[in-house]
Amino acid sequence: MSRVLIVEDEVAIAELVAINLRHAGHDVVLASSAEQAQAEVDAVLPDLVVLDWMLPGQSGLALARRWRADARTKALPVIMLTARGEEVDRIAGLDAGADDYLVKPFSTQELLARIRAVLRRKAPEALEQTVQIAGLRVEPDTRRVLADQQELKLGPTEFKLLHFLMTHPERVHSRKQLLDRVWGDHVFIEERTVDVHVKRLRDALAPAGCSGLIETVRGVGYRLARQPAAMPA
Ligand code: CA
Repeated sequence: MSRVLIVEDEVAIAELVAINLRHAGHDVVLASSAEQAQAEVDAVLPDLVVLDWMLPGQSGLALARRWRADARTKALPVIMLTARGEEVDRIAGLDAGADDYLVKPFSTQELLARIRAVLRRKAPEALEQTVQIAGLRVEPDTRRVLADQQELKLGPTEFKLLHFLMTHPERVHSRKQLLDRVWGDHVFIEERTVDVHVKRLRDALAPAGCSGLIETVRGVGYRLARQPAAMPA
């Protein structure tokens, strides 16, 4: 189930889209202005945003541009809605960072198809993907972590954290990014919660000598190295 934020000040359109998305199994949040939308995104990063161009106050276009300039929201999938159909507007929308663009009036089936396509493109790391690095193997379908043939015991959060880090190796993730991607809804979770779970994860990996794979990047966050550090962190 994906969390979709709909930013649209026309209630009839917002409700129609929301009903169809919920029917398709999505978790839907509504915002009627750029400010409300920003507050929703600050609280919980959605999987996708359906963003109307014409909003009271700040435009959807300006909001999309702002998201693209911010590290946390840079990759946030956005489908832009607009009454404008001119080529120049279409280009402006895509230039602002929209992943796709739909001109009103549109069919809800068309919007659902576009949403599916954008989500597929943006989530190549299938949640069920088995991943293996430096002798460590994570199997989401069986929920097993294997170091050579030895099975390691991980709690559910540590399992998700390890799987996320292993599907995004060598990249530094801030605590906030990890909360967004691993916990999903972090409204009431403090950033140091991440540190607690990273410690548990390292402890769980220690019997296999793999705890050094999870590196602390001082002042930034954490990274999973393809090769373990010489000394466990
Ligand atoms: Ca509007």
